[in-house]
Amino acid sequence: MNNLSHRIAIIGAGLGGLTLAKILQNAGYTPVIYEGEASRHVRPQGGTLDLETHTGQRALKIAGLLDLFYEVCRFEGQSSKTVDKNGKIYHEDRDVLPTAEGGSRPEVDRTELRNLLLDSLQSDTILWGHTCTGAVPIDNTKYELHFENGHTDVVDLIIAADGAFSRIRPLVSDEKAKYSGISMVELNITNAEELFPELVAYNGPGTVYALSDYKTIIAQMNGDGRIRIYLGFKAEANFLETLELSNNEPEIAKQTLLNLYSDWSDELKQYIICANEEITPRRIYMLPVAHKWENKKGVTLIGDAAHLMSPFAGAGANLAMLDGAELALSIINTDNQETAIREYEKKMFDYAAKASKETKENMDLFFSEDAAAKLGALMNSFKE
Ligand SMILES: Cc1cc2nc3c(=O)[nH]c(=O)nc-3n(C[C@H](O)[C@H](O)[C@H](O)COP(=O)(O)OP(=O)(O)OC[C@H]3O[C@@H](n4cnc5c(N)ncnc54)[C@H](O)[C@@H]3O)c2cc1C
Repeated sequence: MNNLSHRIAIIGAGLGGLTLAKILQNAGYTPVIYEGEASRHVRPQGGTLDLETHTGQRALKIAGLLDLFYEVCRFEGQSSKTVDKNGKIYHEDRDVLPTAEGGSRPEVDRTELRNLLLDSLQSDTILWGHTCTGAVPIDNTKYELHFENGHTDVVDLIIAADGAFSRIRPLVSDEKAKYSGISMVELNITNAEELFPELVAYNGPGTVYALSDYKTIIAQMNGDGRIRIYLGFKAEANFLETLELSNNEPEIAKQTLLNLYSDWSDELKQYIICANEEITPRRIYMLPVAHKWENKKGVTLIGDAAHLMSPFAGAGANLAMLDGAELALSIINTDNQETAIREYEKKMFDYAAKASKETKENMDLFFSEDAAAKLGALMNSFKE
């Protein structure tokens, strides 16, 4: 049996699973994607991502979608500024040229990127509303997948693209996603240009990193005119519960947050004061740096399922897409499925280990003494 006739199930229609499916489909494969959510519209997909040339953009190129991406991405979104709690600037990069040349990291709204991938697939590729509960091996040659809705399926290859709390990961690894020591609160300022032009002028078209006292305010201008803000805290795992944000009126919740930034500059406090949408607490989880497993026939992992890391190097989505592309290429170009998986894992373990190490170092830097000066120096070093 050659690979083309193998029955391949991808669990999860995130950026990793969709990229993988698209490249396999281009080569004549017919993978099925099982997605737990009922449709693409169930959940807002979150903020903006910057796609790197050698990871996210490379994956889109292999998928034949790079030109479509260039139509929706924002090159000016790459601009950034690093300040401390007093507003002192340590690094600023406002004049990023609108170019598709090498080394660029253009921004794209997550929903737009996911829609681009979803729209590129054959219409019957995704079975929505199928939450996978696990899989059991059959005769050491196949797997039977189980779903919350009672559905079952027997497949030759399972690819887990089901994110941080993967239901498939236990088939190959005992590791679980653990609290990273960092908690975040997401705020949004919608219609910012019209309502708060001064804040928009301060922010610029990209990202502001304000770091001090083991806390952050990271503010990103999004393509739909909103500023999305991540307040970050080095804190115990129960920190967000102690704030009781969801039990209180938004204005009381905002006051609770403002109290945590009472000695920050008035300009930076505006990011909290002007917030006008839902307040979302997020605990940040990670897998151990350089997570790997022994190769196992008929199953592998991509994206967060394989190497969940904190967002402090902007690597997770980029790597999920690269994994999808590398695995697809390996399956397409190798006659033997076991060899294909082995070769993908070998390559991925190597680049994911480097990225997860760098991400952990960045996370430690963001929440360290004199963090703004250190990040500013790092950002300036990239320009040299
Ligand atoms: C606050 C924050 C900011 C971030 N910023 C960036 C950034 O700027 N740049 C960057 O590169 N990365 C960033 N990331 C990381 C990035 O979001 C992830 O690494 C990326 O989304 C992983 O993609 P994935 O396809 O592996 O998984 P996911 O995007 O998590 O997709 C998994 C899919 O599987 C589905 N699913 C889950 N369980 C099941 C199940 N049991 N059965 C069926 N379906 C299931 C889910 O519904 C989902 O659709 C950030 C993360 C956070 C938390």
